[in-house]
Amino acid sequence: MPDKIEKREGPESPAGFENLAADPRVTVRRAGLPKPDGSCIVYWMQRAQRGFNNAAVDCSANVANELNLPLLVYFSAISNFPNANLRHYVFLNQGLPDIEADLAQRNISFVVRRPPHNSLEKLLEEVNAAMLIGDENPCREPERWRQALARRLHIPFWTVDADVIVPSKLFPKAQYAAYVLRPRLYKELPNYLHPLKNPTAQHSWKRPKHFDSYPVTSDIALGWKRLDRSVPPVETFTGGSSAARTRLQFFIDNLLANYDEQRNKPTVDGTSRLSPYLHFGHIGPLEIALAVNAAVEKNASLSHARDSFFNELIVWRELAVNFVKYTPNYDSDECAEPWARQSLAQHAHDRREWNYKLDQLERGETHDELWNASQLQMVRFGWMHNYMRMYWAKKILEWSPDPATAFAYAATLNDRYQLDGRDPNGYAGIAWAIVGKFDRPWFDRPIFGKIRYMSAASTGRKFDSKRYIEMVRE
Ligand SMILES: Cc1cc2nc3c(=O)[nH]c(=O)nc-3n(C[C@H](O)[C@H](O)[C@H](O)COP(=O)(O)OP(=O)(O)OC[C@H]3O[C@@H](n4cnc5c(N)ncnc54)[C@H](O)[C@@H]3O)c2cc1C
Repeated sequence: MPDKIEKREGPESPAGFENLAADPRVTVRRAGLPKPDGSCIVYWMQRAQRGFNNAAVDCSANVANELNLPLLVYFSAISNFPNANLRHYVFLNQGLPDIEADLAQRNISFVVRRPPHNSLEKLLEEVNAAMLIGDENPCREPERWRQALARRLHIPFWTVDADVIVPSKLFPKAQYAAYVLRPRLYKELPNYLHPLKNPTAQHSWKRPKHFDSYPVTSDIALGWKRLDRSVPPVETFTGGSSAARTRLQFFIDNLLANYDEQRNKPTVDGTSRLSPYLHFGHIGPLEIALAVNAAVEKNASLSHARDSFFNELIVWRELAVNFVKYTPNYDSDECAEPWARQSLAQHAHDRREWNYKLDQLERGETHDELWNASQLQMVRFGWMHNYMRMYWAKKILEWSPDPATAFAYAATLNDRYQLDGRDPNGYAGIAWAIVGKFDRPWFDRPIFGKIRYMSAASTGRKFDSKRYIEMVRE
């Protein structure tokens, strides 16, 4: 991947253009100067689905202003996004009106298209784009799409790492554990924990007559025959940046102070529940972190809670991004460290007292009521409490024929039902639970080997498990 802008024959590089490319958040995927007679800049929005506090929008607006061109943000609603179903598409759809409204405040046009009229390259030709800017997603397919696009395009193509606080390329290798990444991240934080400038585009884009753009309030999945509609939308979460900001404010005003004590209690609304919004980019981690810091400025007694929250939001979340970015087999048991692989292999033939098939797990039909309740929470509400996610995944290891099957079952169910599924956090969380990734060896025991174990009895004692079971069934 070229990291520098190649000097070419033709017009001089506009002042400031190279500085924008030098930002560590930017990856130059196709080098070169913008098309000299181009009519606009296009930002292909994929992961960072928001109009404000989005470094990819800022970068695009800065480039557009530098080149005296208007900016167009393009969203292509593809019908075959890996493992996405109706639940995910409805949440995504709910976010589109906020994007349009927020971008309009910045004098930026928003265009949405659906198959078969959604070819990005055709759009670039149609609007005569001078260059393309995108965002980042370290997962396999989205990264492959970006690489393939970069090979085909004839205009410059940059991507902006908008959904982490510290640009992920500052850590050019896989980080072994949270304790390794934490000091490195915290050293960089003072450079990145600053509000974005949210510049306005100086030039308006003039939409040609009869220009095709799908209305943001219409059903983007309308008529899609192959879309998996078996997983219905949930009412527990409404998508969009404004809903995300409302929840963030609620969290700060009511829950942050007790976050550290309450975060491991699945019966309590004690965590931010921002993970679906973070997954879809309806809010970014920087906006969340700055809002929490502002609360600490006003009330210093929140600083301990802030540190605990940042450990999840920044350290564990950005460790997950690093994991997926540098681990080709992030979604299988092959991502295990040698100690874990060896230990699990030694227990490969241990007798499994319970052996469930995927459909039994999916329906929550096991002998373990607490586990069934956790599965039901995810199926009914599109979200599961963190403490239960750990227990849930570890039991899948205990009840599956082998770790490879366990990993595949967990990833399938997680991606299908969680609104925040299909995310680096999900693969990292499953890897932690099932193959001990980022953890240390524990005492050797059947099936698990040296992977950390969680028993039903001890888990159930840590909180009111009866109440949890009742809650999800109510
Ligand atoms: C088996 C397993 C599967 C998981 N699957 C997912 C998933 O698909 N998507 C997902 O976003 N998270 C996943 N997690 C991580 C974590 O459980 C959720 O991020 C968290 O429960 C979301 O709730 P919250 O927003 O209220 O979290 P909060 O406690 O409010 O934390 C704030 C944010 O920090 C991040 N965060 C919190 N805990 C973790 C963690 N352990 N690892 C990485 N980031 C974290 C999330 O982005 C979260 O929204 C999984 C964890 C495990 C053990």
